[in-house]
Amino acid sequence: MNKPKEPSNHRTIERVLSGMRPTGRLHLGNYHGALQNWVKLQNDYECLFFVADWHCLTTDYADPKDIRGNAENMLIDWLACGLDPKKCTFFVQSWLKVHAELHLLLSMMTPLSWLERVPSYKEIRQQLTDRDLSTYGFLGYPMLMTADIIAYNANRVPVGEDQVAHIELSREVVRRFNFLYKKEVFVEPKPLLTQTPKVPGLDGRKMSKSYNNCIYIYDTKEEVRKKIMPAITDPARKRREDPGHPEVCIIHDYHKLYSSAEVCAWCEDGCRTAKIGCVDCKKKLLEGMDAFWDPIREKRAEIAKHPEQVWEIAKSGSEVAKILAETTMEKVREVMHLKY
Ligand code: SF4
Repeated sequence: MNKPKEPSNHRTIERVLSGMRPTGRLHLGNYHGALQNWVKLQNDYECLFFVADWHCLTTDYADPKDIRGNAENMLIDWLACGLDPKKCTFFVQSWLKVHAELHLLLSMMTPLSWLERVPSYKEIRQQLTDRDLSTYGFLGYPMLMTADIIAYNANRVPVGEDQVAHIELSREVVRRFNFLYKKEVFVEPKPLLTQTPKVPGLDGRKMSKSYNNCIYIYDTKEEVRKKIMPAITDPARKRREDPGHPEVCIIHDYHKLYSSAEVCAWCEDGCRTAKIGCVDCKKKLLEGMDAFWDPIREKRAEIAKHPEQVWEIAKSGSEVAKILAETTMEKVREVMHLKY
């Protein structure tokens, strides 16, 4: 296994930071929504990617038993999908206690109303009605996120439009901190807006573990086939000879991710004119999906034989991250008169 690269406190390129919560196995929505972009970013930025295990507890505090196993699978998926520890740094959030220290210190100076107005606070509480999220930790999760980012003075955070409000909060917190303690300790992070393709779940809703509609990175070829063949298509195609509307069909969305332009055109024309049936269309999609995922599955199987090496990479990366975060924390403790 490769060793991670050394840290750099004398940067000439921008630093990117992003994390994933190990709440379950990674699915195609996670891959196309984030991981695929991370693999590109590692070539152009100094990248830090972390296992956001404390963040799991903000919503899953009552059932934390799977965190370690999920984290291990997630790290294996990252490596199999092309994240390279020679180009980027992996670390585990809970191994770096400075995240908790900075979270606490920022909590002292952040007005409660700033957290209450973050749009996702109300939205997620309305969605996750099966648990009690009237907790201090859940309200404060954007503050923990801010600590994660600014502990490394990351310049850029890859996000979708819906998460820009979190970065805006981080920027406000940075401005307040630098103003209160009269020193430019932190840089204001900026969003790195990412266009992500549409990856619906097998039932047409957002792909999500809680909807049980996912195709996982971990799935075998046969498991993928068993999920795709009975998947819903355009309800207008009740019979083979009924013309369809590819734009309302998830199989067409998947073709756009995995099939050539010629195959996409074949699917669109064949569907609208009823020249092809849904079974033909799905079989063609599976050819494209297999061509894309087979090499990743093989790589994944190899990496999974040596989980101890995967943890070794996370350990080395966490040492690198610790040096960077400690450098920032020394300045924080100094300006807050806590160095004694
Ligand atoms: S032919 Fe393809 S795109 Fe059209 S409804 Fe069937 S599966 Fe969907």
